[in-house]
Amino acid sequence: MPTIAFNNIVKKFGALTVIENLNLEIGDGEFLVLLGPSGCGKTTLLNLLAGLLEIDGGEIRIGERDVSYLDPKDRGLAMVFQSYALYPTKTVRGNMNFGLSSRGISREEADKRIAWAAKLLQIEHLLDRKPSQLSGGQRQRVAIGRALVKQYGVCLFDEPLSNLDAKLRNEMRIEIKKLHNQLKNTVVYVTHDQVEAMTMATKIAVMDKGVIQQFGTPDQIYNEPANLFVADFVGSPAMNVLNCTVKQNGSGLVAVDEPNAVSINLDAYKWKNKGVAGSAVKVGFRAEDFFTEPHEDGGETVRFDCPVEYFEKSGADAFAFLTLAGRTIAVRIDGRNANRYRGRTDLPVYLPLDKLNVFDAQTGQRL
Ligand code: ATP
Repeated sequence: MPTIAFNNIVKKFGALTVIENLNLEIGDGEFLVLLGPSGCGKTTLLNLLAGLLEIDGGEIRIGERDVSYLDPKDRGLAMVFQSYALYPTKTVRGNMNFGLSSRGISREEADKRIAWAAKLLQIEHLLDRKPSQLSGGQRQRVAIGRALVKQYGVCLFDEPLSNLDAKLRNEMRIEIKKLHNQLKNTVVYVTHDQVEAMTMATKIAVMDKGVIQQFGTPDQIYNEPANLFVADFVGSPAMNVLNCTVKQNGSGLVAVDEPNAVSINLDAYKWKNKGVAGSAVKVGFRAEDFFTEPHEDGGETVRFDCPVEYFEKSGADAFAFLTLAGRTIAVRIDGRNANRYRGRTDLPVYLPLDKLNVFDAQTGQRL
């Protein structure tokens, strides 16, 4: 199965450059998610790979082949669209067969593949129905089946779950992931849904404004966001961020927020590049990094005493929204014991100092 490489890709629509000098490599068997907000260029990038759009510069390679200017049908890629794109007049079987007969695959082989994919996707009983006689989830399965029967090493998905309700979306997410575990094909999957990205991807490329902001495993993206955009886009609730200035404190450094309400010792932070006194930084921490009780073992913590704005509970998850340094911060609390917080107007919280994320306030880059 091939490695996909985008080398110095440029794409313009008229005067608008939507992708400028983009580089990305996708390994064999990888489940690569292109994640980013609406309009960031992820569908454009997928369509360039599929050959549905033409690049204005650079090169796309699949394995040994330069496919930059090949016809879509010659690239050896299967694609599943958001809209499913099923032929309404053909049956499920006819839809799945369509790309096979045109490629000269024998009737016998086509039947074999359709039976295999239908079994895998549990749509055997639907093969003689038309798309109008199917639910949204069933149509999505057929669209995936039609891609699978081609038995290409690479499958592209463009927001395949966005037309499904929440329950079905969760189910299909697991199905697609199971399928990938089984087939070990290379997947390029476009979504703006960070839960899909975090749960399905082996690698994520986070995009904004046509630029890859970070490329890494879901853990790297979540735990070590490369910049403020990634820190803010990935995670729910979004990462808490305080505007601070670095100050000298004896032999060490502290980050002090602008109203001087908090002072955070930076010595425990594993800075790649220690900030200098006087520089403006943004200090980020996630809702689940806090303890709500003093914490004996582990590293140093800083205590904040915060007025409570409100509590939010959803099943086992609960969050306290607190005021710190004039901002609202989210702190995760134990949803099973959320009642003990009822009526509280203030809450002490303890932040482990090794959990900090520090960003340059000017460039937004992680320090
Ligand atoms: P979404 O999640 O909303 O689909 P996206 O990240 O996939 O967003 P693209 O569809 O790739 O974004 O669009 C990237 C940018 O290119 C947007 O600013 C969009 O308006 C612009 N664009 C896309 N297609 C065209 C086109 N055919 N002509 C002109 N501009 C386009």
